[in-house]
Amino acid sequence: MFTPDSIEVQGERFTPFITQEQISTRISFMGKQLDKDFANLNPIFIGVLNGSFIFLADLMRHVQIPCEVDFVKLSSYGDKKVSSGNVTTLKKVDARLEGRHIILVEDIVDTGLSMNYMLDEMRTHHPASLSVVTLLHKKEATVHPVDLAYVGFEIPNAFVLGYGLDYAQYGRNLGQIYIVENKK
Ligand code: 5GP
Repeated sequence: MFTPDSIEVQGERFTPFITQEQISTRISFMGKQLDKDFANLNPIFIGVLNGSFIFLADLMRHVQIPCEVDFVKLSSYGDKKVSSGNVTTLKKVDARLEGRHIILVEDIVDTGLSMNYMLDEMRTHHPASLSVVTLLHKKEATVHPVDLAYVGFEIPNAFVLGYGLDYAQYGRNLGQIYIVENKK
């Protein structure tokens, strides 16, 4: 696993913030919660690309009940660290979602804009239930309120990288979560 002591991406330095072990312990716990809450409901996990692909892959392998998976892709931040404020769908879900128990899986909820957009889009399919799992939540930064049923870690309002999360598309391959180092 690629877990350097520090890494520079696009001129910014990042240092370790949440270790592989912490992530894995937390995900195992979340998997058990989902097993209990969705027993006999045959849920469908919908991963929000690209950032959630590693989290979703690990989370699903801790889930023991029958379940399905599909993906959506939203427009991203581009190469910046701050949201453009516009969200559009780049890839829709292929599965039929009417009457299904949907578990939306995100890497991080920041302002809450993307998740609110996703929830509105999912509701148009008339699911039986709609729940959100996010690995990270920047509570202080969330200005668009969103009901997050399962949160891996509450984190401060700072830019993070790794374990699927990118900076200008780089850094997704890091095996743990890194945080941007403040410039002195
Ligand atoms: P929101 O719409 O909640 O403001 O932002 C959600 C999306 O912004 C996430 O899915 C993620 O792609 C991106 N994002 C927000 N904060 C961070 C961060 O600290 N690091 C990275 N890599 N992406 C972030």
